Amino acid sequence: MDNLMVPAGVKGILQRLQTAGHPAYLVGGCVRDTLLGRTPEDWDICTAALPEQTMALFDRTVPTGLKHGTVTVFYGGSQAEVTTFRKDGPYTDHRRPDEVQFTDRLTEDLSRRDFTVNAMAMDLEGNLIDPFGGQKDLKETCLRCVGDPDKRFQEDALRMFRAFRFAAQLNMGIDTATHDAICRNAHLARFVAPERIHTELEKTLLSPPPSYAMDMARLLSAFLLQAPKNSGIPTPEPTLAYRWAWFCAELMLQRCIESPEAFLRSLRADTATIRFCEQAVPLILAPLPEENPALRRLIAKHGADAVRCAAQCQNRQDLPSRVDTILASGDCLDLSHLAVNGTDLQALGYTGADIGKALHRLLDSVLIDPRCNQKEMLLNLLKEDSHG
Ligand code: ATP
Ligand code: MG
Repeated sequence: MDNLMVPAGVKGILQRLQTAGHPAYLVGGCVRDTLLGRTPEDWDICTAALPEQTMALFDRTVPTGLKHGTVTVFYGGSQAEVTTFRKDGPYTDHRRPDEVQFTDRLTEDLSRRDFTVNAMAMDLEGNLIDPFGGQKDLKETCLRCVGDPDKRFQEDALRMFRAFRFAAQLNMGIDTATHDAICRNAHLARFVAPERIHTELEKTLLSPPPSYAMDMARLLSAFLLQAPKNSGIPTPEPTLAYRWAWFCAELMLQRCIESPEAFLRSLRADTATIRFCEQAVPLILAPLPEENPALRRLIAKHGADAVRCAAQCQNRQDLPSRVDTILASGDCLDLSHLAVNGTDLQALGYTGADIGKALHRLLDSVLIDPRCNQKEMLLNLLKEDSHG
């Protein structure tokens, strides 16, 4: 294992389990990522040791999921999730096994895992245990279920979302039998909690080709008016808010959702993302203006970031630098930078809601021509208004 990028602390955990007579292996995503030369998100170890045996071996442990046999171990500056080999009992809710049983057989543990590329284990010497052909599938960039795909998606419908997520993240194709089984079992997606869908969608949207998010959207009948077809809007840079706005714009364009707000709320998205998409999606869907006065109005109304996002979705390479120039010019873009304020208007006899309306009219004029943001000029404009 020396040539692989496994942290010393993680190796130490394997070593100590092993020395105490408990077979122990790296397993799942960390093996897959190590083989791909990617940095794993987290380190998972599977072992024949029971949770209490693991806890007895290390000073710092947290019983993260004792029911499922998982203990988090902190050791040598690293941390790993150490889980007892297990096999899953029957699934009746299409999400979680009703019960799990511990086993002393590694292959049984590997066979409950979702995809062949996630069902490999590695021992301390770096030997790969790969009973389902994960390494071959990794080389052929083919995501394939372990065992009968229909059965695996019926057990746990979240795996359908994970399939598209891994395909996107790892840039893999989905094996035909696995893909067909997703199509057949798409109706089971309603058993998956919105929070889990949100997480998988987010990871997919942040992947280099986020188009798999549109495939995932075909699983979202519970949240959509109709299923989307393929995507056509150019994808913006991989920042989360931009990608959510892109996704919502696609769904709006294809009449799958009525508004980004209701859709994102149903997926438990955070308020900042919802607010951003409300501003950016209408901009993505309408041609952006050519002229600076109109551009200034858009920035004032929707925010510079929403304009930048929309520019990327419309391949308008000229716009970002123009947005930057407008921002750097110091031109007034909101009421707080207007050369008159409410008190000035009160002095002229304005009261109540009329003050706000007048200020907005003045801001409109200033957005069209920033040079008129001078007190005298604005007050004159008001006088002309009231006489006209
Ligand atoms: P990443 O951590 O990069 O998101 P991962 O493959 O490590 O990907 P985890 O959710 O951390 O995914 O799970 C670790 C391992 O547990 C997986 O590689 C897989 O072997 C197994 N696993 C996780 N979720 C499921 C599931 N829903 N069904 C079957 N096996 C699963
Ligand atoms: Mg992981």
